[in-house]
Formats: sequence, C-alpha cells, structure tokens
Amino acid sequence: MTKHIFVTGGVVSSIGKGLTSASIGMLLEARGLRVRMQKLDPYINVDPGTMSPYQHGEVYVLDDGSETDLDLGHYERFTDGPLSRSSNYTTGQIYLSVIEKERQGRFLGKTVQVIPHITDEIKSVIRKVGEKDVDVVITEIGGTVGDIESLPFLEAIRQFPLSAGRENCLFIHLTLVPYLKAAGELKTKPTQHSVGQLRQIGIQPDILICRCEQSISRDERDKIALFCNIPSQAVIEERDKDFSIYEVPLSLVDNGLDEQICERLNLSTVSPNLDPINEILHRLRNPKHEISIAVVGKYAEHKDAYKSIYESIDHAGIDHHTQIRVGRIQSARLEEEGAEKLLAGYDGILVPGGFGERGIEGKLLAVQYAREKQIPFFGICLGMQCAVIEYGRNVLGLGGAHSTEFDKDTEHPVICLLNDQREITQMGGTMRLGSQPAKIHPGSKSVDAYGVADVNERHRHRYEFNNAYRDQYTDGGMVFAGTSPDGGLVEICELPDHPWFVAVQYHPEFKSKPTRAHPLFSGFIGAAIARK
Ligand code: GLN
Repeated sequence: MTKHIFVTGGVVSSIGKGLTSASIGMLLEARGLRVRMQKLDPYINVDPGTMSPYQHGEVYVLDDGSETDLDLGHYERFTDGPLSRSSNYTTGQIYLSVIEKERQGRFLGKTVQVIPHITDEIKSVIRKVGEKDVDVVITEIGGTVGDIESLPFLEAIRQFPLSAGRENCLFIHLTLVPYLKAAGELKTKPTQHSVGQLRQIGIQPDILICRCEQSISRDERDKIALFCNIPSQAVIEERDKDFSIYEVPLSLVDNGLDEQICERLNLSTVSPNLDPINEILHRLRNPKHEISIAVVGKYAEHKDAYKSIYESIDHAGIDHHTQIRVGRIQSARLEEEGAEKLLAGYDGILVPGGFGERGIEGKLLAVQYAREKQIPFFGICLGMQCAVIEYGRNVLGLGGAHSTEFDKDTEHPVICLLNDQREITQMGGTMRLGSQPAKIHPGSKSVDAYGVADVNERHRHRYEFNNAYRDQYTDGGMVFAGTSPDGGLVEICELPDHPWFVAVQYHPEFKSKPTRAHPLFSGFIGAAIARK
C-alpha cells in the first residue's frame, strides 16, 4: 500500500515548502524507501513556461521535456526518484483536462462541478504517481492556506484518505513562528490561525513544522500543540539556516521528523544513512580554495531566476572542496559601466540562458572580456548563442552578426530558427525541449570533463547555430566539440586557445546534484581554481 504525505504551507508564502518537502524525500530515501515527489500549483497557467522569471523564478525542465516549477529542481537535487510530467500539475492543467473530457461527452449529461469533477481529477493525478513500486508519495500543495486558488487542491487532499485510508495518509503543515523584537518573544498566533483555517476545511494536520528564527521553548511548543490539536512532539522546529540548505534535512532529523513520519505511517525501515549529507557539509565547512564567479544574466539580481545555475556552481564547489562567491551581475549594467569595472577580479564568468533582447549587448561584452582576458568562461543556451555572435563579430569580422531572435534582418544570422520551427506561433511547448542525445568529440575540453562521448542533456530553446556558417567558424578557430548524433545541430562550442572556454546549447544545470556535480560545471570551476 502506497503511503501519501501531503505538505501544505501557512502564514506566508516563500516559507520553504519546496526545500522542506525535498528534505523529507531525501530522509525517507536515506531510510531505503522508494519515494516520489509531486507538486500541485494553484495558478491557472498550464505550466510556468510562459511566465516571467520575475513572477516565477526559473522554469525547471525535466527529461521528458515538461516545463515545471522550480521546486522540482529541489526534488531532483535532493532525491533520486524519477520525475516526469505527472510530477507537477497546475490548476490550469487540471481544468484543461476536465474541460476536454466534458467536450468529449465523457460526463454523460451531468453538470460538471468543482466537487466532485475537479477534485476527482486532482485525486487521480495524486494516485497516478504512486501506482508502481512506490512506498511513499510526497505531494506539496503550492500557495498558502487561505488562498482562494488552492481550495480545490486542499478539498481533494481532504477527501483523499476516504479512499486511501487515513492510516496511509499524513498531513504536514509548514508555518511561520515569527520573533517579535519589540515584545522579545516568539508569536504562535499566526500558526494557530493557519491551522484553524486548515481544520475548517476538514484537514487536521498530523505534524507541524514551524519555521522560526529563534528556538521554540517547551512552553511555546505545548501551547502550539494544544491550540492546533496535536501532540507536543509533533511540533517540529525548523530554525533558519544561514550557512547552507544542506543543514535543513539534518536539523529535521535532530528534531525527530523522519522517525515520527515512519511511526505514523507504520513504515519500518533502517535508520537513515546520513553520510552523504554529512560529507557535503564537511566539505562546505572546510574549503581548501576560495574563488569568485560572475553570473551575467538579464535577471541576475533575482535570486530564483537562475536557481539551478547557482545550485550547480555550489555542487562544483563541493566537488572541488572550494568556497565560491557568486557575483550576480545584471547584463544591462555592462552596457553602461563596461566589462572591466564589473568583471575584473572574477576567476570565472558564466552567461546563462534567457529570452528577449534586453541586456544582450552586455552579455556580448562579458563573453568578449572572458575571451580576451583568458578567464574561464561557461556559456549556457543563450550564453552559447552569445559566444557565437561575439566570435562572429569580433574575430571573424561578420559585422552585425546576430541571432534572428533579436534582429530579423541581420546581415549575418549566425543563430537562427530551424526550418521546422519557423511555422510555430503558439506559445508554450514549441521549443526543442527535454533530454536529447549529444556526441562529444575527442580531444575537446568537454570530453575530458565528461569522460564519455555519448551524453544526454536537457534542452529548452528555439534557435540554433546556423550551419551555413560552420566552415567559417571552424576555419576561424572555433571548435564544435559537441553535436547532435547525426552532426546536424551544434551542441558545444569551444576555443582551444583559451584556458577554458566552453559554451553549450543545452542546460547542464538541470542535471547537477550536490553529490554528483555536473562534469562541465566541475570542469569550469576546476579551471577557475587553476587560474586563481
Ligand atoms: N532564446 C534562445 C532560444 O530560444 C535561448 C533560450 C535559452 O537560453 N533557454 O533559442
């Protein structure tokens, strides 16, 4: 019988439900359980693919090409259970599929309603993830309890135990216990209210995880327990972690969370193997080197816009026992202040993916600076396209070279749409998306890093290197170190006369893990350490 854990959040948004859910998944896997993670998002967009990074942070892409919430990134980095399209549903997707069924006449003349049709659809997508060889499904409900939008999801998880059995379901509610400086004490009222709201809906949480800045005293814990109708030991403290996100799972263990989960769900397991996470923290606390990396992107000031990039840099730091200071630099600033002022002193420069014209010239300046000053450079997706444009303009003399994404009439469309993508006008799902094979060529820095010639990497882009310019670039010194297996699409560009200049059309950041840094991130950071 598959067990189900539902994670809800209260009081404020951004309370860290994603990271906490992922940590729970990690701890259960560390006990040998087979875990599947799932996120249900209350917004109406069918997926986050069309939302601005300012609204939503990064779009996280899975192997199967689904464009998902960035919390799925936490899940993949923390756990090993496979994720797919069914790991992330939005209100929009749920309604879309119910409406499609209605159009097909599948409701046999009935009035289609939120209860039971929408809630049935939600329950069926929850059940689906737990169907095969799964011990525990962890379903995180996006949004905050009290939001109008999340009501159908909450109603569906209220109903869920009716068929699955209450003993097989566990409700975990994450809340905030703020510290009021003026009063000099922690405040439990918001938590009481938030749980009150859940109970009005018919959900009695089994475990409360309380985010707090200060330790919760015995008295405060008892008070929360009494008002929220749960045993005192089910009030779990989750103190803010300044040092590292990898402290979160360990602090949950210290507070007995995993043990209680297993007890409540009647799961008998071995005690968790915490060696990998302890090793990560050991390396982070005892760095052998210190370097700095500049990430030059359109939204660099926004901490979630390139979430997986920042995480992957950290993983490579862990791999190399190195502390990395990351400078997030808005590319548009380079256009006004110049590369030297903003980039001097960095040991490596990374230009991430992106869409839209703002800040492009600044990214080109960053590429040029890295190339000319021999600073290790890593270009990703749009970052690779910028590397190609910069090389065309400044080395090959292709004046005004550009991507047709930004200049339709450019004289030198070195990056352009492939023929079969020209026709597409509908938004969403029109890109080259998801895992695709690539061949890495012998003698390249990339093959050194990967150690193998055949790789699969995730894509999310429309534009490609224009093959009409291949010979000119090769003759002019750029090496196409990776291509699609048939050789038709450029996947990696390198400059051999440079300590480490590697630019890729795909997104390696979606496949990096704290215990297994992505080989190219590791190569990049290795080169930055060597430079220093
Ligand atoms: N805008 C570019 C394209 O669509 C790059 C996309 C990206 O960096 N993810 O091809």
